[in-house]
Amino acid sequence: QAKTAGRNTLCFFDPSMQIALEMRTAMVTELRQALTRQQFKLHYQRQVNAEGSVVGAEVLLRWQHPERGMISPMVFIPIAEETGLIVPLGKWVLQMACAQLKQWEHDPGTRNFQLAVNISARQFRQLDFVDEVLEVLEKSGADPLKLKLELTESLVLQDITHSIEKMETLCSAGIRFSLDDFGTGHSSLTYLKRLPLEQIKIDQSFVSDITTDPSDEVIVRTIIVMSNSLGMEVIAEGVETEEQRDFLARNGCYTYQGYLFGRPMPIEDFQKLISRFQV
Ligand code: C2E
Ligand code: MG
Ligand code: MG
Ligand code: MG
Repeated sequence: QAKTAGRNTLCFFDPSMQIALEMRTAMVTELRQALTRQQFKLHYQRQVNAEGSVVGAEVLLRWQHPERGMISPMVFIPIAEETGLIVPLGKWVLQMACAQLKQWEHDPGTRNFQLAVNISARQFRQLDFVDEVLEVLEKSGADPLKLKLELTESLVLQDITHSIEKMETLCSAGIRFSLDDFGTGHSSLTYLKRLPLEQIKIDQSFVSDITTDPSDEVIVRTIIVMSNSLGMEVIAEGVETEEQRDFLARNGCYTYQGYLFGRPMPIEDFQKLISRFQV
């Protein structure tokens, strides 16, 4: 029987590897159904300025699995990438973010908020990526100036010429770009100055040790000086303590995101906190 033979040929694998494979296959199937079953949720994590006022949020995807509970994007985004599911999923995230921006326009307290949306490599490399973003934006009626797309260094550098082309088209429509997880990739200054970036985001791995690790101190200071001299705003992610915030402020970084200011949370909670601070 073919099925038995198939199973037997797998015998030389480590059994835990086979279990991992089966789990992965199950996850792929479930991931495909998750969008139509409305199992994805968005969490919003505030971004604040030097005064501690909210300037906007980063949109972070969550998979609310009926049996397994909340699954981290670190687990399912790579699978969504490999299977191509990231394309419809990423579009959905954009649609939701733009709808939220539109809704915020009606309230003077939230009118100026920006939203940052993570873009994955496969999504960005789609031939119709630019058209799709513009179409989603237009249909929503949201202000393009409020939408920020987060790209990573490795994504941009994969095909720098096309990346710049796409970014410039979107920039001329008003959309802005932030370079996520900065410092973890292989950016060279030569490339960096060619990119139409509004913002550079210092990776949390550097932020977490700035008050204890002298080399991270130097790295973070260098990133801040470099961003400022290239005319880019710099934001620090993963800010968890007052000490880290103070270090960043002393060294010229005035925009922050991290647990110190707020965890990623459902929009209802995000909204409640905003109105509480406004009163
Ligand atoms: P990222 O874009 O670098 O997002 C920052 C991550 O750091 C988030 O993890 C956030 O919850 C976490 N974080 C924020 N503040 C703190 C802090 O103070 N301390 C610590 N320890 N962590 C903090 P999350 O939500 O698990 O997302 C992980 C990654 O998944 C994101 O990293 C991003 O690369 C990816 N991702 C999330 N949502 C999307 C999406 O809609 N599309 C795509 N393509 N990727 C996404
Ligand atoms: Mg991000
Ligand atoms: Mg990041
Ligand atoms: Mg990160």
